[in-house]
Amino acid sequence: MDKNTKCPLYKKCGGCQLQNLTYDKQLEFKMKKVVRLMGKLHRVDDIIGMDNPYHYRNKVQAAFGRDRQNRIISGVYQSSTHKIVPVDSCLIEDEKADEIIVTIRKLIKSFKLKPFDDNNMTGFLRHVLIKRGFLSGEIMVVLVTGNEQFKSKRSFINALLSRHPEITTIVQNINIKRTSLVLGDKSFVLFGDGVIKEQLCGYTFTISPKAFYQINPIQTEVLYNKAMEFADIQKNDIVIDAYCGTGTIGIIASKYAGQVIGVELNKDAVKDARKNARLNNVENIDFVCADAGRYMVDIASQGLSADVVIMDPPRAGSDIRFLKSLLKLNPRKVVYISCNPETLRRDVMFLSKNNYKVKKIQPVDMFPHTEHIECVVLLTRKA
Ligand code: SAH
Repeated sequence: MDKNTKCPLYKKCGGCQLQNLTYDKQLEFKMKKVVRLMGKLHRVDDIIGMDNPYHYRNKVQAAFGRDRQNRIISGVYQSSTHKIVPVDSCLIEDEKADEIIVTIRKLIKSFKLKPFDDNNMTGFLRHVLIKRGFLSGEIMVVLVTGNEQFKSKRSFINALLSRHPEITTIVQNINIKRTSLVLGDKSFVLFGDGVIKEQLCGYTFTISPKAFYQINPIQTEVLYNKAMEFADIQKNDIVIDAYCGTGTIGIIASKYAGQVIGVELNKDAVKDARKNARLNNVENIDFVCADAGRYMVDIASQGLSADVVIMDPPRAGSDIRFLKSLLKLNPRKVVYISCNPETLRRDVMFLSKNNYKVKKIQPVDMFPHTEHIECVVLLTRKA
C-alpha cells in the first residue's frame, strides 16, 4: 500500500497501522523494532517479507448493522469503538471472501432479514466469518446470528450457493450474548461438512469455525520451514510442541522425529489435533490437553526428558513455571515462535541468563501493513 494505492479507510478502520509506509519501509520498521528488543542477544537475520503483500488474509470477519440512514452495512469495528466502518473490499483480506460478504449483504436485504442491533439486542445477522483454504480452495461461510430462527433458511442458502458455487460449507452459529466475541457456543451445519481442509507443508489440516489457524498461508509455510530448519530434529528425538493448537507444527515435525508430544489448553483444539494426526496417518504423535506450564512441571518432576522443545505461545508469552521446567528438562534445542517481540524478549532473556544461548533470530512478516511482528528464535543448550 504505497501512496498510490492507499486504502481510503486507513484512518477510520485502524487495522493497517503501517500503511502510510511503503512495504520496504514497513519491513525496515519491523526489523528495527526486533533489533532494538533482541539485538543485544544475537544478530537478527533480515526479515522475510512477502513478494505480494496484499489479500493474504485467509480469515475474514464482517460485522453487520445499519448506518444513520438505516441502510444495511457490513464491515469492521472502528478500533476501540463499537462503530461499524463499512468495508466492501480490503487490501489485505481474501478477495473472494470480501465478494461473498457483499453478496450476503444484498441477499439479507432482498430476503427481508434484519441485521442485528447491538443496542436493543434484536435482529438477525450479527457477523459473517469466512475461512478459505488457500491451496485447497475450500471456503467456509459462518453466519453468526442473534437468534436461532432463520426465516427462509433453505432459499437463502440456495441463493447464496447459486451466486457462489465455490462455497464448500455453510454454518449457522448462534450468539445471543452481549459480548465482543464473534462466535457463540452453538452451531448448526447448514451445508457441507462444517469444516474446511487446507494443505500446509505437505500435510492436510482440518479447520473448524473456532479453532486457531494462522491467517497468512504463504508466510506460515515460510515460518514453519524456518522452525524445522532451526530445530534440526534427529530421528530418535523426543520433541515437545507446546501451545500446539490443532497440531500443525507437531505433525510437520513428526516426520523427522522419534516421538512428538503436543500440549494445548483448549480441548476443542486438542480434538482437532488428534483428528489431524489421523488424517495424515501420523502415528508417532500424542496430544495432551493441559496448561503447558503445568505439563512441563509434571514431566520434569517425573524425571522425563525431551530433546527439542518447540513453543508457540499466545501474545502474553510463556510463563515462569514453563520456563523453569524447561530448564529442568534440559532439551538440546528450544525453538520459540512468537507473535509478540516484547514477551519474546522477556522469556528469551530468562533462558539466556540460564543454560541457553540464542543462536538465531528470524523475523517473518506474517501481517503486512499491520504493526504485528512474528519471530522464530533458536536457542541451544550451553555445553
Ligand atoms: N502452534 C499452533 C497454535 C499457536 S496459537 C499453530 O501454529 O497453529 C497459541 C495456542 O496456545 C492456542 O491454541 C491457545 O489455545 C494455546 N494456549 C494458550 N494458553 C495456553 C496454556 N497456558 N497452555 C497450553 N496452551 C495454551
